[in-house]
This record gives sequence, C-alpha cells and structure tokens, in this order.
Amino acid sequence: MATIIPSAAQGRRIWLRVGTLLDGSSARPLHDAHIIYDRDQILFVGQDAPPRESLPPGRQAPDCDLADYTLLPGLIDAHTHLFLAGDELDLDKRSAYLNQAPDELLRQARARLEKLVRLGIIAVRDAGDKHGVGLALSRLHESSNRPLMPYVDSPGAAIHHQGRYGSFMAEPLRDCGAPYDCVAARVRAGADRIKLIATGIINFKKGAVTTEPQLTTDEIRQLVAAAKSFGKQTLAHASGDDGIERVIEGGVDSVEHGFFLRDDQLAKLRDRQIAWVPTFSPVQEQVDHADRMGWGAQIVANLRKILDQHAATLVKAHAMGVPVVAGSDSGSCGVAHGLGLLYELQLMERSGLSPLAVIHSATGAGSQRFAFKEEFGQIKPGYHSRFLLTRHSPLESVTNLAKEKVVVFDGSIFESNGPVDIEGL
Ligand SMILES: [Zn+2]
Repeated sequence: MATIIPSAAQGRRIWLRVGTLLDGSSARPLHDAHIIYDRDQILFVGQDAPPRESLPPGRQAPDCDLADYTLLPGLIDAHTHLFLAGDELDLDKRSAYLNQAPDELLRQARARLEKLVRLGIIAVRDAGDKHGVGLALSRLHESSNRPLMPYVDSPGAAIHHQGRYGSFMAEPLRDCGAPYDCVAARVRAGADRIKLIATGIINFKKGAVTTEPQLTTDEIRQLVAAAKSFGKQTLAHASGDDGIERVIEGGVDSVEHGFFLRDDQLAKLRDRQIAWVPTFSPVQEQVDHADRMGWGAQIVANLRKILDQHAATLVKAHAMGVPVVAGSDSGSCGVAHGLGLLYELQLMERSGLSPLAVIHSATGAGSQRFAFKEEFGQIKPGYHSRFLLTRHSPLESVTNLAKEKVVVFDGSIFESNGPVDIEGL
C-alpha cells in the first residue's frame, strides 16, 4: 500500500476510514471507524461521520478508505534495558559488551531507537541501568532536536543490596545511607521513576527462588514513600512469593516478573490496582536455546513447569481484573529489543489470553497505569498520532503484529514491507 496514506506534514489533517479500530482499552472494536489526526495529535475518533468542524478544510471524503485494515495504538514495552544488547546469547560476549565505556553503550543504544519505531514500538519504560544510558535517552527524548525515537523513561540505577543480585544494573542502598537519601540521589540524577531489586532470581537448577528476598518490607515502604514524596512511581523486581508479599505490602506501583505469584496475592494486586508485568520472554529464551545455554533435560523440565504455572497465573490475573502490562525484559539474554516485545505478546496469547487482552496489555494498560509524561497508547482525541495499520488482523492472533504493517508516528508513515533492520537489537 505504498504511499496511500499521506504524511501529516505542516499542519495538514489526515482523515482515514478503517475497517476495524482498536482504541487500546475498550472491550469492543469499532467497525468502519473514522479517525482524523495531524502531526501533533489525534483530533477525532468515532464510528459516525466526523462533525464538520473537525474535517480537514474543504474535504468531504476520507483521504483513504482502508476497509480491510485494522488500526491500533503503537505498542509500549513496559520493561526494557536499553543499555544491553538482547540478541547476543554468548555469555562471554555479553560480559565483554558490558565492559565497554558508557559512551559506547549509549551510542549502541541510540542506534536501536529508530529500529524500535519501525517495528511499531512507540514507547519504552526502561527498567534500570547504572551506566546512565536510560537516563541519557530519556533526556534525549525531551530535547528539542530528538531523533526518530520512541518515548523513553528510565529509573537510572536500580536500588539493591550490596553483594546481592542486580549489580550489573543497580547501586547498593547503603552507598547513600538512608532509603530517603537513596531515592533523592536517583531523582537528582534524573530518574523518571524508582526501580527496586527486591529479590533474587529463579534458580533454574532447583526450579525455584532459593534466596531470601533482598529488601525488607520496611525498606520498601520507606523507599516507596520517598519516591511518592518526589511524585515518582516505583517498579519492583520480585520473584518468589515471600519477596512478592513484601513489595505488595511495601506499596509499589508494579510487580516486575512476579514468578510464583500466589492467588491471594493476585487478589491484592487487583484490590490495590498494582500492575503486574510478567516478562515471560527471558525464561522462554532459556528453553528455546537450552542446548546453547547448557541446560539438560531436568532443568528444561523445571523451566517449562515454571512457564506453565506463570501462564496459568496470567489467565487468572486477567480474569480477576489485575492490571496486566506487557514488558519483554529486552536486553536480557536472547531477548532482542522490539522483537522481544512481539514475542512476549505471542507468549501471553499462547498462555490463554485473548488477542484483544494482549493488545490492551501493550497499549492502554500501560498508558493508564504508568503516569507517562505524554499521552500515547490509546486512540483518543489529544493522544499522539502514533498507531499501527495492518491487513493481518491482530484480533485473529497477535503473531500478525510481526507481519508487514504501516507505522504512523507523529503523522509520518513508516512501512515494513520487506525485512526490517534488526541488527544490534
Ligand atoms: Zn529487567
């Protein structure tokens, strides 16, 4: 469909009619819907013909009638680590990569940004690094001469305990003294939100989280209260039910990973409207590349069991009304930026969520929960003109989102008919 949709340059309003429109949060799609937008924002969305005053001057018919297309918001990846290259599986090469100077990490992360837009990712919530890459990209997004890039916000260095998991992306709590001072230091450094590493990670050999949680409930409470005093949200890495209990009771805004969540904890997430970002991809990648990782049959069986349990928990969580938000944990071993989110969505669908529920998790759910500084992720007047158009209905399967599509980004048109450049993601 090359060049069918005009670019919304120089104040020009574009009027499209589409066969199906998903607004990112409504339970029902709109059919034969109209959308009018310019470079800055969406101006009108509806099933009925638009009112005269919103029409482009002198126009009586849409610029394009796309009866066999579905329009949906551009995708939000709510958990990424932009300073890491996800597509690398070799552990020696991964640690060599991390040993580069921060400037070099930033240069390579910058090169990923335009590729993400072309894949349909219009915003990412970075989940932490101690090299300042996420913070630099967040500032870059706010600058007047920003390149073609998704919205980025970042917590900077996560907060953990000395000697425990997370030293590659976190700085120890004790380095700043009290929890309040630690949060204040992060905010001074430019953190958009505060990331806590509250637990360790899954021990694949044992198929469980075998270490004690890192942060105490009291520490989490103090860190959350400090973050709130600066108007910042808190996201918490937590797996294993003991650590998950602490972050829920500590009052965080989102539970990241959440492996081994219990049913009674799901009810608390629902009642307190704490978001859950399940991040299937990094664990699934360990199964997909088990030979390369050196995992034998027993470990693979453990991993599959964990993933099956996680899938069942996801279906329960969604049915109960827990705010589920999609995040890939891209940058993790084997989880490429952008492509990792598309895979994550497939894994959520494979778990038993409907395609529409999966789409909401990557669009409206994050848009509504995460207090981003700009409006995107929903198709509503006033929101950015950032959306996807595809002839391969994502309501049949979200795997269709990986097929060729048109990305409209601030009114400009990016088509992916051939292979997209995925080098270095
Ligand atoms: Zn992560």
